[in-house]
Order: sequence, then C-alpha cells, then structure tokens
Amino acid sequence: MSTLSENNFQAIISHAKEYGFVFPSSEIYDGLSAVYDYGPNGSELKKNIRDYWWKSMTQMHDNIVGIDAAIFMHPTTWKASGHVDNFSDPMIDNKDSKKRYRVDHLIEAKADQLREQGQEIAADALIAQMDVLLSADDYAGLKQLIEDHKIVCAVSGTGNWTDIRQFNLMFSTQLGSVAEDADTIYLRPETAQGIFVNFLNVQKTARMKIPFGIAQTGKAFRNEIVARQFIFRMREFEQMEMQFFVRPGTQMQWYNYWKEERLNWHLSLGLPREKYRYHDHVKLAHYADAALDIEFEFPFGFKEVEGIHSRTDFDLKSHQEFSKKKQQYFDNDIDETTGKPYGNYIPYVVETSIGLDRMFLLILSNAYEEEVIPKEDGTTDSRVVMRIPAKIAPNKLAILPLVKKDGLPEIARQLMDECKSSFKCFYEEKDAIGKRYRRQDAIGTPFCVTIDHQTKEDNMVTIRHRDSMKQERIPLSEVKQLVLNAIS
Ligand code: ATP
Repeated sequence: MSTLSENNFQAIISHAKEYGFVFPSSEIYDGLSAVYDYGPNGSELKKNIRDYWWKSMTQMHDNIVGIDAAIFMHPTTWKASGHVDNFSDPMIDNKDSKKRYRVDHLIEAKADQLREQGQEIAADALIAQMDVLLSADDYAGLKQLIEDHKIVCAVSGTGNWTDIRQFNLMFSTQLGSVAEDADTIYLRPETAQGIFVNFLNVQKTARMKIPFGIAQTGKAFRNEIVARQFIFRMREFEQMEMQFFVRPGTQMQWYNYWKEERLNWHLSLGLPREKYRYHDHVKLAHYADAALDIEFEFPFGFKEVEGIHSRTDFDLKSHQEFSKKKQQYFDNDIDETTGKPYGNYIPYVVETSIGLDRMFLLILSNAYEEEVIPKEDGTTDSRVVMRIPAKIAPNKLAILPLVKKDGLPEIARQLMDECKSSFKCFYEEKDAIGKRYRRQDAIGTPFCVTIDHQTKEDNMVTIRHRDSMKQERIPLSEVKQLVLNAIS
C-alpha cells in the first residue's frame, strides 16, 4: 500500500468529495468552518461503521446495553461533570494575524517539524517539556517554551503572542421562547453524560448486574478553536461511547481488558497493526485515574482515534451531589475477604470513546491507493482504489450486465432482487465494463459481477475482486453466498 504524505491527503479530500463521501457543509454558501456533510457513499460507510461498533458492543457482549439520550440536557449536568469549569483548553493569540491557537497543537506542530528535519530527540524533549508544563498549568512556562523555540504563527509569520488563557469549548443556546425567561443550555460536548444520568434507569429496567456497560452513539459539539485536517477535528461530530460500570478496586483490570478489546475491534476490520500504537496520558483529566489514546498513523502522523479512560466514580458521585439523588448500586455478591455482600457503593467507570467521523477518516486514509498497474505490453495503467474493509463498504456488490440488451439486464435484475435484502448492491448498465469497474474501485465496492452472453448458456458469471482485480467464473447461484462469506 502506498505511503501517504500531506499531499496525497489533499487527494483523499478531493476524492471524498468527488465520489460522494464528504462535502463541505452548506457549500453553496462557501461552507462552514469545520462542519461537514456526508454524501450517499459517505452516509452508508458511516452507518456501517456505527452499526459494526454497535453490534460488537451490544450484541457481542451480553452485559452491555444501549441507550439513545437527548443532545440537550439539564444545564446542571455540565456543572456536575466539570465541563462548565474545566472543559477548556489553553489558547494563545497571535497579535498580528489575530489567529488563535491551542497551545498544545502549536507546540506539537513544532515537534512534527523537528521530526521532519531528523531531530527526533529534540522533538521528544519538546513534547516532554510541554507535558510537564501542561500538567502544572504553568502558562508562563508554556509561553516561554513557545518563545524559546521561536514558534511563529503560520499566517503572520511572527512570534508576537498574547499571554495564554483558557477558553471553554461548549456551545450554548437558549431553551424557551421569551428571552428574559430563557435558560442557557449547552449542546452536549460528549455523549457520556447522557449515560451517567441514566445509570440507575438502565440498571433497574434492564436488570443489569455489575460489571455491565451502557453504549451510545450520537452527536457531540465542541467549539474547537483549531479546526483543521478535514473531518479529523470538527465542531459537530459523532461519538460512539461505552461506559463500563465496575466494582471499586477492579477498575485497572477492566481498563486493561478494554484497552486490548478495543484495539482488537480495530484489527478485526483487517486494519494493519503497525499503524496503531497506544499513548498513555501524562496529564490526566480531572475525572481520570488512568487514560490512554489508541493512536493511528494518519497521513499527517500518529493521532488519537479513540480514548480509554478510567473515570473512577467521579461522574456518578458528582451527579449524586448535584442532584441529591443517590447513585448507588447494591451488590449482593459475597466479598470473600469479609464473607459478607459487597453492599452499597457508587460504581467505578471505565470508558471507551471513539469518534465516528475520525474512524471514518481512518478508514478512508487507510483505504485510498493510487495504484500503478503494469500491462502485458510493457506500458502501465493506473487506478484509484479504496480498499475499504468489505464488511463496511458502502456497496458490497456491483451487478453489471455486459450490455443493456439480449436479456442480460433481466438476469442482472433477478440477481439484484435475490441479494438486495441481504446486503447493499449497486446496479449499472451504462459505459464499457472497464470504466464501470474503475468507478466501483473508486468507491470501494469489494465485488463486481458481470453477466454476459455466456451466462445465458451456462448460468456462470464473472466475479471480479476489487483488491487483486482477479476475475473468476462462478455459478450465478453462488454469487450471494460468496459475498455473504466475505462480509460476515
Ligand atoms: P483531542 O485531544 O483530539 O481534542 P480529546 O482527547 O478531547 O481529543 P475525547 O474527549 O477523549 O477527545 O473524545 C473521544 C473521541 O472523540 C476522540 O478520540 C476522537 O475520536 C473524538 N473527537 C473528539 N473531539 C473531536 C472533534 N472535534 N472532531 C471529531 N472527533 C472528535
């Protein structure tokens, strides 16, 4: 597979638009910064990733159930969760360009630059220094670090910086029609709190016993200051989160379990292990006693795609305090050390949190390849192929009658009717077959089946495999099963 540079990242972005995966939001009005819309192929792919996650969480784990909480929540939720006071990032403004940067991004970009120049040790040292200063909330020290490394604004080119300040990332809006009476509420910046406030509702109604999990997918909103890198960092995005409630003291065991389990989920899609790594957090969020990122090598370097966080009992405890409603669980299992039931406690929580859009970008960037194909006469041909895992590809099978006459479309339509309730098919009879194959390669369809005149004689068809471009003759009656085997 080709190694991608920043330049081909631009090619992926163009490809995503041209083939109906991702469009800039409200593009006819020149778009809205860091907001994107998903097109016909994109919405299918996104839904398939979401379904794959949902199924692996809820169907494959009998101790995990799902919910679908509202985006709007009682404003006190965000006081209790700490988001009103703590959900902010240290930012710095360039006085000349008036551009605002997240301090960690600015310094990380400098470290990336050093790495590109072969100065690995200096880059690591810079990141280590930054981590120490961030942990200590030492803003003067961070500013000094920026100045010492002569970090400049990409727009103005100057190092004329303001002091570092905190900015809250939550979007707010008004609930209620009369301005004076209206309450300020927030668009949720994470889906997790919808799970915490429903902890007892779910535990009781689904009769769950600890350890158990609650899974949820849904939109989250953050007023990201540095919105960049296409759908990597968006202002409106979707999360897939699971909170796993455990007995206090067992959280590290579950943290390690989910650390492995989640990486295995990625690998189960056939994604390459060498493009993944774990990154342990040095500076822990206010709610965590351990945290790590699962990072993937995007075209612009290793970046977080998923977080595993041991959130302690912080959230439930805090909701208990603010709501004055007990958030306890009664555990009647026997504690072997005391010989008595564990009794009442507030559970600890291990969270797995992955961005759906970021996972989508991971799939696109791993799948995209500009392939050069040697021909028999010594010349070369080329194609763009999206090696999207078959299980989640927007279309699984393209059904292509060789010509639009002689009864071939009828056979093709019949196959379509047989397959379409089991998986998504695409039917096309226009253009030369080679051109149709290329179009399917570009949207990642793993199989094409061609119905030709011979089919009428012997009921055999040509199956073409996207990745190898190999073609084989198989019985028409075996097409459906072949595809089902590949996507199950
Ligand atoms: P980052 O450090 O990249 O800002 P984070 O540590 O704040 O991310 P979490 O709060 O742990 O992220 O959110 C969990 C997941 O949600 C992330 O791993 C990422 O996949 C996704 N995510 C977070 N913010 C965004 C965003 N602005 N756009 C798209 N996905 C996001």
